[in-house]
Amino acid sequence: MIKRLRRPSNDITLPDDRPMKILQGTGISAGVVIARASLTFERPLPVIESLPSQLTAEAESARLDQAIALTLKQLKKLRGKLSGLPDEGRIEIDAMLTVYEHMLSHSRLVRAAHRRLTEDGLTAEAAVQLESDILAAKAGPQPGMPEEEIEGARRREGEFREVARRLLRNLTGVSFRAFSDIPSGSILVAEQIRPADAAVIDPNRIAAVLSEGGGATDHTAIMLRALNVPAVLAVPNLTDLVEEGSLLIVDGSSGRVVINPDSATLAEARSAMAEEAKERKGIGRLRRLPSRMVSGEDIELMANIELANELPLLHRNGATGIGLLRTEFLFDETEPLPDEDGQYEAYAELVADMQGMTTTIRVLDWGGEKGLARLRQLGIHDEAEEENPALGVRGLRLLLRHPEILEAQLCAILRASVEGNCRILLPMISSVNEVIAARQIYERCARRLRRRGVKLSGELPPLGIMIETPAAALTVGALVRQADFFALGTNDLTMYTLAVDRSAAMGSELYTALHPSLLRLLRLSVDEALRSHRPICVCGEMAADPRSVALLIGMGLRSFSMSAASIPAVKRMIRSLSIEACDDLYRRAILMEDPIELTKLVRNFAS
Ligand code: PEP
Ligand code: MG
Repeated sequence: MIKRLRRPSNDITLPDDRPMKILQGTGISAGVVIARASLTFERPLPVIESLPSQLTAEAESARLDQAIALTLKQLKKLRGKLSGLPDEGRIEIDAMLTVYEHMLSHSRLVRAAHRRLTEDGLTAEAAVQLESDILAAKAGPQPGMPEEEIEGARRREGEFREVARRLLRNLTGVSFRAFSDIPSGSILVAEQIRPADAAVIDPNRIAAVLSEGGGATDHTAIMLRALNVPAVLAVPNLTDLVEEGSLLIVDGSSGRVVINPDSATLAEARSAMAEEAKERKGIGRLRRLPSRMVSGEDIELMANIELANELPLLHRNGATGIGLLRTEFLFDETEPLPDEDGQYEAYAELVADMQGMTTTIRVLDWGGEKGLARLRQLGIHDEAEEENPALGVRGLRLLLRHPEILEAQLCAILRASVEGNCRILLPMISSVNEVIAARQIYERCARRLRRRGVKLSGELPPLGIMIETPAAALTVGALVRQADFFALGTNDLTMYTLAVDRSAAMGSELYTALHPSLLRLLRLSVDEALRSHRPICVCGEMAADPRSVALLIGMGLRSFSMSAASIPAVKRMIRSLSIEACDDLYRRAILMEDPIELTKLVRNFAS
């Protein structure tokens, strides 16, 4: 099952007497590690042919049911092992196991496989293989699918294949891979690491993970990051070049893998490790300290949340609220769309969990790069009508065309708002009429709830808007009369201002928020918000970049929302800065006309 070769030595302080080789993969989980390789190979499954069974359909059906029951039992056991893992890892893996369990419980896959047994007289193996191939192909990337949906489609495809693989192992009796006999402190080297493999990786025993397959955003990558195991995936020729026991340096940020490093390279890696250790210690301490500048100003640092189960991370990283709850996750999987009661439960739990801290819930922001497949499935989005969805009916525009979706969501949020301190955010605004229309619906929802006898607080939760189109930024003077607060969405604002797709890899050099045009648009919004005493916060990715935050503080901003994991680094920067230094940076930046010079100025600040 596991091919193990001769291990040359355990010493990691001295280089081996072999030629050094450098490989480049995709760094997916940060951390520099020096350790020896331990290779694992998956025992291949036999080829499953679509042959008629020698048994009766009932007997095959019973075999399939047994394999399903055994697979569910194994998943349950796997779940049991999660308790020792850090929260982030446990949450990710738990969610993945739930998906697998769904797929094994009266799902399309199970129903269709059973049908094959009775209708075509196939073996259980053939039925599972055939049906999972069909479902995986349907769920996977399709020709003409927008770039930004491909990763998600790949992930869903992988889920079908993984569940099928587990069933087939149980049907054929080909055992699973185990990592328990890998020497503690080694680097696990494999052709492919599956999400379920990642689930049994013990971060206290395995120093790092390397694989030939895999990508930055698949389940395996997400889990390895959550487990905090340094990892590089998609390393070409990895298993041909690395031998059992080879001395390796893995850099999980840059994706560099060094085989048989020489002494100079080893010394370099050791000092990088020492630097990282220092940094980690500092950031851990920071979580408990206030986000206060040297000159005394307090800066609000909130978190952007995409899944309710990210809350532990938010609390652990010291966020003082949710600046942006992207609610798409509730709508992406549920079929049909979640109703008011279903949404209410999710929001109420979250708002209560925030214990009075600001909880900003954004209404559904489908369209553009989000939820297109679901919109098509629901017959809401018509490709023929809309060739470029990023410039089409998205965000609030879509909700105003389908007010029943907006109303159900607003009623659910209003009901949940009594549990804590809620704000409601409208996405993708390009004119004041949209906000007026949304506010009318909002007030109508509140009246309707009161008529239904639902107790709401006298003052409704503030209704704010995202400023993420140049149109909104340029008409902020009118918007301020309709909006209770502003959230600057620099991700979309950058895309629409620079005419560069936010998710197209090709455009990545062109896509930068550090552009003079962006600064001018942001300044308009900030000045207006400050003049009219409206709270304003930045919740785009720009808020996760410590130096950009310094620039934005200089512009007058005092509130930021970012992925929870980015908070400590931003806080550390804030605690080292004076308001004078930020003002000075901003004064110089706003005069700049050249984006390259502007980027240089910001990148070199405080370094
Ligand atoms: C933004 O556009 O900056 C934003 C925060 O919204 P999203 O990334 O969800 O589009
Ligand atoms: Mg946006």
